[in-house]
Formats: sequence, structure tokens, C-alpha cells
Amino acid sequence: MEDPALERALELLRAGKSAEAEAHMEAARVEAAADHGEESHEHAIAWNGLAAIYALIDDGPRAIEALERAVAIEVDGDEPTRDRLTFQTNLAEQLHRMGRFDDAENVLHENLAAREKHYGRDHPGWGFGAEPLAATLLAKGNLEAALEVAQASVGCFWNSGHPRVGAALALYADIASGFGAPPLPDGASLDDLPDDLASELPGAVAGRAQSASNPGRGCDLIEVMIPLIAARLDGDDDPRVVELRVALSNLQRDADRHVDRVESLEALMETFARRDDPEQLLHARLGLAMAQAEAERADDARATYGAALAAADDDGGALIRSQVLRNWGLFESEVGRIIEAEKLLRDSIAAVTVDEPEALGRAEVALGVVLQHDGRPGDEAAELFKTAIERLDVGHPDAICARGHLRAIEEGGPCACGDQEAALTEAFTALVRPNVPDGLIGDLRIELSDEGELKVGVELVREPTEEEHETIDRVVRHALHQLRQGIRRHYG
Ligand SMILES: [Zn+2]
Repeated sequence: MEDPALERALELLRAGKSAEAEAHMEAARVEAAADHGEESHEHAIAWNGLAAIYALIDDGPRAIEALERAVAIEVDGDEPTRDRLTFQTNLAEQLHRMGRFDDAENVLHENLAAREKHYGRDHPGWGFGAEPLAATLLAKGNLEAALEVAQASVGCFWNSGHPRVGAALALYADIASGFGAPPLPDGASLDDLPDDLASELPGAVAGRAQSASNPGRGCDLIEVMIPLIAARLDGDDDPRVVELRVALSNLQRDADRHVDRVESLEALMETFARRDDPEQLLHARLGLAMAQAEAERADDARATYGAALAAADDDGGALIRSQVLRNWGLFESEVGRIIEAEKLLRDSIAAVTVDEPEALGRAEVALGVVLQHDGRPGDEAAELFKTAIERLDVGHPDAICARGHLRAIEEGGPCACGDQEAALTEAFTALVRPNVPDGLIGDLRIELSDEGELKVGVELVREPTEEEHETIDRVVRHALHQLRQGIRRHYG
């Protein structure tokens, strides 16, 4: 299915122009309906494209509505039928993402039966319906049914030689781990998997682990699969296995498994040293210092930061040198060694020029916060925050942090640390205010739900016209998208 309108919209989205992307796709949909009719295959494709844009900006309810419209259009013929099956799977995926597992399961049962009728059980087209059904059954806790469907999808992709077998195997292993069952289906051996399919496995396992219901579960999955995959590929130093171990170390951080993470990073450092890859070795060393700090091994962390700084001086460059100094400085401030922290952070600022605005801005914010928390919220801290805010993207978490601290200095009150809602509200206001008509909006507020979802409050001063209402709606949704992306990019 070719969709030039969607491709253009995705380009706009990648360029950060999400509001334009949505408008472009909506215009293409109206045009498809006018040119080919409301009930045409072209119109269904356009609904699906619009849903893709909504999904990418995390607007699940709108994505679901658009996909329901796409699925409701039934046109005879092979291509329209295949496309409709895909739209239906997309619909189930969005329902699943929104936690509507029962609805997703119903859609997927209907979809799988239709796929069997259209493709037959041996065609990968059937597997593409079975795999998401297994994932939804897993999410519902129906493990036995999930395992059975997952096994069938593995068989379908394996026998038809389809690369998707990697993802299906990863899903199977994830479900099996819930039982304590072996990670591969009975009688299956990775030795029998052709090379091109085997090389899909590391990426598929990493992807599955990252979307597991919690990071600890993702760690367990990778830990079970790494020895099997290393044995099938070229051992522990195989670049694909190394990538998987990097993914593991990141998940171990998210799961607060810092002792395990230290081990993973030490193994990675050995690999990078054998490979003579100083850049990767330095990144792993920096990660190790943070993991040691989290594991409350302060002396080890300090020694590792020292080694990382020496390595950065040897062959790292200014950017990584600034990063090492900033992380080291933040670590010393956390353990209460403020004099050392201040010196390191000043060095971090001095290490880069204005040509590295993100590194420079982050170092300035770090020093400003250390000064302010040390009871020195004077002109220097305020100046650091002001210049950093200008350097950093408006939704950057460090810019959010700087705005909160600057406001506290100006108002003479305590800083916003520990009050993430106040900081997010500040950033949200900066994103929304300039883009809506003057005198229309009163108070703006962001609240965080217990699950970490952003909830927005917008007070309207007067009744907006229909056009103004649409503008506010769009500006607010896209501001939320930017905040989520900012949070994800820097903390995710
Ligand atoms: Zn603070």
C-alpha cells in the first residue's frame, strides 16, 4: 500500500512539525473522499494514514476513531481486503496500547479468522494476525492460550522463511518466562534457523524486552536469550550480541538492578577493549561510573570517573570531556562534596563553546542548581539559568528545571525540585501561550497521574469561536506531544 500523503506527513513529523503533519493528512483524507467517494478504498487508506499520525503523537483515542472508520469501509478485491486486514490489526494495536485488552482481543479473533480465510494458515499473512493476539492474551494474563498462539505464529513464520520469526520467537520466550518454561518451543533449535533469520533475533529480543510490562521482566528475557543467541551467532563479541547487551544494561538501570548493571558494563568494556574501540569503551565507562554510584559504591564510581576523564583527554574530544565532568560533578554534589562538585561543573562549562549549545546549557543548569541548593541563589545562578534557557530546546528537561529554579530566585522562594508538576506547567505555558489568540486563555496547568501520564488543565477566559477552539485543541495536543518527547528523549 503506497501512501504519498502519509509519507509527506511523516516527513513533517520527523522535522518536528506535528501540527502541520496532522493538517496535511486530514486535508488528504478530505480530498480522497471527494475524489473517490466516502466508501472508497482510497478513503480507507487515508483514515489509516491519519491514524498513524495520531498514534505517533500519542493520541490513542483519535487513532482508534480513525481506524474504526478505516475498518468500516469494505471494498471487494484482493488489495482492499489485505489492506483492511492490516487496518484491523492496527486498530487492535491501538486498543491494546490504551489498555483496552478485551476490545483488542475481540478485534484480533475476528481478524485472525478473516486472515485464515484470505491467506490460509501457512502464509505469513496469518502469522501477522496471530502474533498480536498472543501479545494481547499475555497482557490479559491468559498465559496458556497466549503460549499456544505464539507457538503457532513462530511455526508460521519459521516455515515460510519470514524474518518476522525473530519477533515471534522473542514473544514466545517472554510468555514462556511467565511459566518458567524453556524459552524455545518444543523441538525447536536456533541451529536450524537460517542465517538471515537468526540475525533478526537480537534486535527482536531487544524490542520485545523494551516493550515488556516492566523493565525487570525485559531484563529476564534478554538474560535468558543472550547465551542462546551468542552460541548461534559469533559469540559474545558479535556486534549484534553487543548491541543486545547494551540494551540489557539500559533496562537494568530502569529496573534499579545496579549490581547486575555493573556486571553487564564490565563485560561490555572487555569487549570494547578487545575490539580497540575507545569511543564505545568510554561510553561504557561513563555508564559504569553511574551504575557504581547507584549501587552506592562511591569510591569505585570516583575512580571510574577519573579513568573516564583521562580517556576523554586522550582521545575523546570536548563534548565527551564536558559530559564526563558534568556527570562527575553531579555525582559529587549528590554525595555532598560541594566544593569538588562546583569545580568539576565549572570545568564542564569551560570544556565546550557556544557551538555545543546542549552540552553547555546542561552544564550551566547543573552548576546553577548546585549553587542554589548550596544556599547561594544569587546573580550568578540566575545568569546561568537565563543563558541556558536560551540555549536549550524549550521542552528540554534541563530547560524546564532551569525555569523553575529561576522563578524561585526571582520570587525569593524555595526551588521547584520535587515539584515536577510546577516545572512541567512552566514549560507547557511557554509552548502554548505564544500560539493561541491573546486574551483567550487564563490559567494553564499540568498534572501528573500516578502512572506518570500528563493531564492538562486549560482555563478559558471567554467562549472561543469554533476556529479558536480547534486552534487551542491542536496547540495543546502538540505541546503535550513535545513535552512527552522531551521527557522521553532525556530520561527514557
Ligand atoms: Zn532545586
